[in-house]
Amino acid sequence: MIKKFKRILVANRGEIAIRIFRACNELGIRSVAIYSNEDKCSLFRTKADEAYLIGKNKGPIEAYLDIDEIINLALKKGVDAIHPGYGFLSENVEFARKCEEVGIEFIGPSAAMMDQLGDKIKSKIAAQNVGVPTIPGVEKPITSEEEAVRFAELCGYPIMLKAAAGGGGRGMRIVRNENELLSSFRSAKNEAKKAFGIDDIFIEKYLESPKHIEVQILGDKYENIVHLYERDCSIQRRHQKVIEFTPALSLTKEKRDAICDDALKIARAVNYRSAGTLEFLVDKHGNHYFIEMNPRVQVEHTVTEMTTGIDIVQSQILIAQGYSLDSEEIGIYSQEHVQPRGFSIQCRITTEDPTNNFAPDTGKIDIYRTGSGFGIRLDGGNGFTGAIISPYYDSLLVKTTSWALTFKDAVRKSLRSAKELKISGIKTNIDFLINVLNHPTFKEGECNTNFIAEHPELFN
Ligand code: ADP
Repeated sequence: MIKKFKRILVANRGEIAIRIFRACNELGIRSVAIYSNEDKCSLFRTKADEAYLIGKNKGPIEAYLDIDEIINLALKKGVDAIHPGYGFLSENVEFARKCEEVGIEFIGPSAAMMDQLGDKIKSKIAAQNVGVPTIPGVEKPITSEEEAVRFAELCGYPIMLKAAAGGGGRGMRIVRNENELLSSFRSAKNEAKKAFGIDDIFIEKYLESPKHIEVQILGDKYENIVHLYERDCSIQRRHQKVIEFTPALSLTKEKRDAICDDALKIARAVNYRSAGTLEFLVDKHGNHYFIEMNPRVQVEHTVTEMTTGIDIVQSQILIAQGYSLDSEEIGIYSQEHVQPRGFSIQCRITTEDPTNNFAPDTGKIDIYRTGSGFGIRLDGGNGFTGAIISPYYDSLLVKTTSWALTFKDAVRKSLRSAKELKISGIKTNIDFLINVLNHPTFKEGECNTNFIAEHPELFN
């Protein structure tokens, strides 16, 4: 059954809010923004059809996390659906459940599905149940230092401590011996508690210098599921992605197919609905292991959109309305129908200072000039001349996504765009990104997740 939406509230801010307003606009749906006190002058709220202040007496982050206030506002404004974007409430099971309870469509998987997959340990078990390889590790959170030591002795160092509720690389520690383990266990637990409110920590074997390969999935409400191929997200700093591209040039066709098939197996096992990503690590011998599932749209969805031509955010909205993948509206008639073409690279331009350990910079942007042109897509957040960058939020300013028939040309376009971008008044990571794009290992598509850490010259 199709339930046409008239109004969608976006429970988010910045570039992803704008991205979703644009999809709403193209689908003829009214977009509703929410914004905090600190975001009164932010660009995103002016891009929606309507915008409302929330969290009047709350802090800048808390405003976007107040489930009851957001749902009450949505009910008052006659909203049919809420899109959570990424971060904030996007993986919050209680939020999805409350939306379901009051009859507002949560644009994403069901609360039950999120509960099953959002937690890293649960999703690893779901993968093991369908025969997909995972990194050896414990099957439930570690409760004491002694338990951690016992497991480490069993599987051998190095190991990795991870927050079960983790995200953004937080609550994660590499541990190379028992001494380190004792202090890291405590600090990982504290960090996880602070960041996610849950301090469950688990352990798995640490893979040296793997590649991060992830698969984009789309599923509808009728158990049709397709994958939109993979992305290589190995260019990371402190386990956080910096540059992403597709296809992953270093993979053979057989390896790519095997990883995409495994992603489908996991998604099918839970009848996954909406857009989601299954993340894998590939070790230096070419073995792949599932690490986690992200039940939401991701920052780097743009590269997949560029090569497949499929609008992932529009698809999420159409799926939530009840359209099937093979409907005329979505137009994905079968897996074979997904035919990626060319290469795409996304760079995350942030207001971080690479010469000062990537500390987020704040202040007024005096000059803001972007570099678009053929083969470049820009997804902007709060970048404009005169904008004030506050210290409260994510430092992502704009994403540049290139597309070309060859990887070499996609690199050239990304470089050209980065060099054309002129931002003054605030520090950015543009020069650092240019150094990465110019690096011969990057040009070969051969970087692993330690690439940035092993190349201090990139910071000059
Ligand atoms: P988050 O949810 O915080 O982003 P992930 O589980 O997705 O955390 O992992 C983020 C990154 O951390 C991976 O892309 C990889 O670089 C690194 N990582 C995670 N698990 C391992 C592991 N077992 N061995 C080596 N690196 C890992």
